[in-house]
Amino acid sequence: MAAEPLRLGKYSLGVGDRFAHQAKAQLQAFQKAAAQGVQVVPVWNKSNREHDTVHSEPQSVRAAADAAVLALGWDRPYFVDADHITMATVDRFLAPCDFFTLDVADAIGQPPAAGVAEAFLARHPELIGDTAIAGLAEPIRMSREAALQAASHYLHAVAEAGRIYRYVEAQKGAGTFVTEVSMDETVAPQAPAELLLILAALADKAVPVQTIAPKFTGRFNKGVDYDGDAVQFEKEFSDDVAVIAHAVRTYGLADNLKLSVHSGSDKFSIFPAIRRTLSRSGAGVHVKTSGTTWLEELIGLAEGGGDGLQLAKDVYAAAYPRREELCAPYASVIDIDPSLLPAPAEVQTWTPEQFTAVLRHDQADPAFSVHVRQLLHVGYKIAGSMGARYTDLLEACEPSIARNVTANLYERHIVPLFIGR
Ligand SMILES: [Zn+2]
Repeated sequence: MAAEPLRLGKYSLGVGDRFAHQAKAQLQAFQKAAAQGVQVVPVWNKSNREHDTVHSEPQSVRAAADAAVLALGWDRPYFVDADHITMATVDRFLAPCDFFTLDVADAIGQPPAAGVAEAFLARHPELIGDTAIAGLAEPIRMSREAALQAASHYLHAVAEAGRIYRYVEAQKGAGTFVTEVSMDETVAPQAPAELLLILAALADKAVPVQTIAPKFTGRFNKGVDYDGDAVQFEKEFSDDVAVIAHAVRTYGLADNLKLSVHSGSDKFSIFPAIRRTLSRSGAGVHVKTSGTTWLEELIGLAEGGGDGLQLAKDVYAAAYPRREELCAPYASVIDIDPSLLPAPAEVQTWTPEQFTAVLRHDQADPAFSVHVRQLLHVGYKIAGSMGARYTDLLEACEPSIARNVTANLYERHIVPLFIGR
């Protein structure tokens, strides 16, 4: 009677589409990969925060994805992700979504009830001492004190993941959705030893997690490159992949369990590390690209000059004085130096070529500005408030926008991550 449970494929890419106009252009990037023989699963994601900012409903993401799939005849799996939901925000995502990213970052560090951490370790004596793991140069080493500390730090968050999971399961039915657990929007990165403990705890709670987003070392700022030690990242990512394979064998977790890398847009300097690790280990990955499609909309608008360029300049002019307010919700993932932002009056004089050179993420172009790019990244609220002026221009400039959206996903993300050059 029960259908096969929904499974997330080995390679998947989360794509954001804030104004629900680019699903087709995005899907074309996945079709190009499929034509190369590489299956990458599209997952449309839009967080509660984004919906609130532009006053949209999760159903609009489902409608746009379904329409694109129908229009292009995509006959492979795809998902709509309730991105970063909590118990407080999950309800409106229940009907349209079949992928749930359970965000338990806020529960990290909250102590579990008395005796819970001790009981957990009594059930898992294997976590104490040395754990040899295939693929790791050295065994994972946790003293009893360290294990107790990690258990006290993470068990409440895992219990919260269990609580949200059960709630969604009760509404939708087991096996009808993909579960991701995210712990990335927090301050301290999780070491491989902590990831192992978290996975053991998720197995105890019978959360059928298919992808998990730990916090990695380094800055994952929105829409710009990784800021951190790429060598350290590669070691951590590779160790985490080995820990996941070990946890799947040891704790009976889903055999397609894989890492999820959030704010993965434009992390060009670590894509080769991810690609090498996947090739070597045979593991899969989920990468969330989030809001860069919106930036490609601005680039596509600016390219044609005229009204589109003027709108892109107006977004900048409106965002410039409001930068603190716009950045506030993204404080942990945005770093702008205001002294390096051009004055709006100067931007008003730019040609299409000047505007797109500053905004397009081409690090070889001396005109490219990480500061302008980050400000416009969080500036989608301005476009949202423009209403039909913005969406009408999206339709009028569709060919140049679509070309940029598809190329960004395919050339700058899918190829380096999943195909290789
Ligand atoms: Zn995230």
